[in-house]
Amino acid sequence: MKVLKFGGTSVANAQNISLVKNIVAHTVADKIIVVVSAFGGVTDQLLHAALLASVQNRDYKTVLKEIEDRHLATIKELISIKDQSQVLSKVKSDINTLETLLEGAYLIGEITPKLSDKIVSYGELLSSYIISEFFLQEQMDVVYKDSRELIKTGDSTGKASVHFERTNTNCATYFSEVPNKVIVMPGFIASSENGSSTTLGRGGSDYTAAIVAAAIDAEVLEIWTDVSGMFTANPKLVKQAKAIPHISYEEAMELSHFGAKVLYPPTIQPVLAKGISIHIKNTLAPEDAGTLITKNKNEKGKTVRGITHVGNMALLSLEGPGMVGIPGISKRFFEVLSQAEISVVFITQASSEHSICVGISADDVHHAVDVVNTAFEYEIERGKIKSTIAEIDLAIIALVGDNMKHHQGLSGKMFSTLGRNNVNIRAIAQGASERNISAVIIKSDVKKALNALHEEFFEENIKQLNLFVMGVGNVGAKFLEQVRQQRKFLKENLKLNIRVIGISNSRTMVFDENGIPLKDWESVLAQGQKADKVGFFETVQNLNYRNSIFVDNTASDEVASTYHSYLGNSISVVTCNKIACSSNYENYKSLKDLARTYNAPFLFETNVGAGLPIIDTLKHLIASGDKVLKIQAVLSGSLNFVFNNFNENTTFHDVVEQAKAEGYTEPDPKIDLSGIDVMRKILILARESGNKLDISDIKNKPFLPKESLDTDNNEDFFASLKTHETGFQKLYTDAQKADSKLKYVAQFEDGKASVGLQQIPKGHDFYNLEGSDNIVLFYTERYPNQPMIIKGAGAGADVTASGIFADIIRIGNF
Ligand code: ADP
Ligand code: ASP
Ligand code: MG
Repeated sequence: MKVLKFGGTSVANAQNISLVKNIVAHTVADKIIVVVSAFGGVTDQLLHAALLASVQNRDYKTVLKEIEDRHLATIKELISIKDQSQVLSKVKSDINTLETLLEGAYLIGEITPKLSDKIVSYGELLSSYIISEFFLQEQMDVVYKDSRELIKTGDSTGKASVHFERTNTNCATYFSEVPNKVIVMPGFIASSENGSSTTLGRGGSDYTAAIVAAAIDAEVLEIWTDVSGMFTANPKLVKQAKAIPHISYEEAMELSHFGAKVLYPPTIQPVLAKGISIHIKNTLAPEDAGTLITKNKNEKGKTVRGITHVGNMALLSLEGPGMVGIPGISKRFFEVLSQAEISVVFITQASSEHSICVGISADDVHHAVDVVNTAFEYEIERGKIKSTIAEIDLAIIALVGDNMKHHQGLSGKMFSTLGRNNVNIRAIAQGASERNISAVIIKSDVKKALNALHEEFFEENIKQLNLFVMGVGNVGAKFLEQVRQQRKFLKENLKLNIRVIGISNSRTMVFDENGIPLKDWESVLAQGQKADKVGFFETVQNLNYRNSIFVDNTASDEVASTYHSYLGNSISVVTCNKIACSSNYENYKSLKDLARTYNAPFLFETNVGAGLPIIDTLKHLIASGDKVLKIQAVLSGSLNFVFNNFNENTTFHDVVEQAKAEGYTEPDPKIDLSGIDVMRKILILARESGNKLDISDIKNKPFLPKESLDTDNNEDFFASLKTHETGFQKLYTDAQKADSKLKYVAQFEDGKASVGLQQIPKGHDFYNLEGSDNIVLFYTERYPNQPMIIKGAGAGADVTASGIFADIIRIGNF
């Protein structure tokens, strides 16, 4: 004999019920007991209707109508026309009874637990009846059996306790006598000794099936649901979760107690006692192996088998000086909660004598505060104890595994993973067994915490990086293209899984939790919502992903002013935008401090020399104890381009125009030609070398005439360049005469920085610098005479994008 239970989704519609029929038809056993849930969502609808009726809200009728329509439609799809009328009329008559019951509640304006159970039992009564009629039509040797005739319980409070002796006898007798091969039964419902309908608690159909399986010593209990087994974490919240092929009863029990809803916790006990294995299978993918739950201990397997959470928790604490040394306070505290039927889910380790702190369901919190405050009224009035403090919107997150107790360091790893991801741990809960380590966290952090822990304990070092990209012009577009090309390589070789979750330009923004398809991000972005820098940040914050990185590819000061918000929420920032790092020192410093405090890297390698590893090298020199003595550099790709192309055969004006046209200058070329851009770069290098400097401390001897500097638009600027051509030609010929070339040089020495045009003689490291290349010479204590030289392309969208990419990989390896 086998017992097969099909859950709400498995029987949610005619199509799924046909799948159920195929599964039953292919099952090999002398007898097959099929336990079914209500059609998915119907139990909730029934409870909702009952609630509406009890507060005298007529809308219960609308809900009832929806329930009726759904069942009638399913019948019409499943049952052939000639047999329909009988089934339809039985269901309509049940719906009429249901309506009478609801009307009763409506008229009295109240609902008793007994009436609620009666109403809610119709979900399973209707589904099991319709399914058995369908099986009959499909020529199965099937009979319907009402579970209420077999399973006996105490009186109901929505979760009645089973009277096993009578239940087992009833089942043994009935199933040994029934001649049919397939028996269809409603799950979840039972009856009290005096015959009224009772229920076994939400999710209780699993339990019905387990009770029957144990009573008849079934070969196996199969739980058919909408996922392919018990997963390493809830697959709806953790995409990378995997089905666990084999697990012990104890582990399964612990996982289900701590929130793995796939199995109703009481289900395991009856089958465990009989050693019957449970097989969890997916109705929608029956070929998947699923999870086998048996008594075999997980001796050699992984230490952590699964990660779960229980949402909707609250912490209740009682504290005060009067508690020290007075015996019996905890006893009274627990007694009063127990008398009020409030179950204590966990006790935290806060136990200094000054306070007691317990976790309870958030639904019980108001009641709990009332009863505890009343019980300790005397002490509270005299200031010995403070009024009860309740903290809501919490959740417990738990690691589960048989072998965890033999391994040190797991909790350290768990808490450091949570800490690194800025998940605040409110309390550490004492697990009921040695099979779990649990922590109380804020509810909104659950998804992030589950994913971060899953990555740490299950994903064989694959690390997911979640990118939020602002700015998709030249650099941004190239960057996305590079990510698209490299994704596979990074995953396979560096174990980094990069997903772009958000993209914004100045007009629109989009988010896709599954990752934006990088092949056609442009069309996806075009259809996005209106761009909003604060809204963008808020979405990143609300999505609350681990390893989130904000990538700024703009040149906007408005965007730069949002970095604080990102870093302060443990979101890393990677940027090619120089504004933040060259803004006032306090701002630069506070961003660096935030990055350190919140463990969120703030990287801006591309601020100097595009993709060249200048800042990173500098950081490594400093970190390893070296000291910078002098920096000499050509840091402007634009100016290098201009002076490499300017000679007696061209005009300065034309060369600058060409540089602009080829994308080598800022949109406003004066930013480059005035030296401001180079000032920002040397400022950043000086700061990164450990110096407190501001832009006003940098000497800049401009080579542009004052009149050109004073222009306030590109047209006037270019016009003024034309007027001063003779002066520019003189700069050139003077250099020629001295056998030198013109280079725009930045220098930092003895705490002082300067920028300006210089004649560079033959033989100097700068003399042969080509095209738009950059070069930096670091003279340090370790490189005092022969400097460390970094040289290469220092401008261009491609190299800048690859510099940003490199920063992201640095974070991945962080
Ligand atoms: P049914 O209606 O078939 O009884 P449930 O909704 O009660 O199905 O249980 C299945 C659901 O349990 C899954 O869809 C999944 O969202 C949830 N779940 C939570 N934790 C886990 C886990 N660790 N493994 C598998 N499923 C889980
Ligand atoms: N239908 C009931 C519920 O939704 C029982 C079950 O599905 O297991 O809770
Ligand atoms: Mg269930």
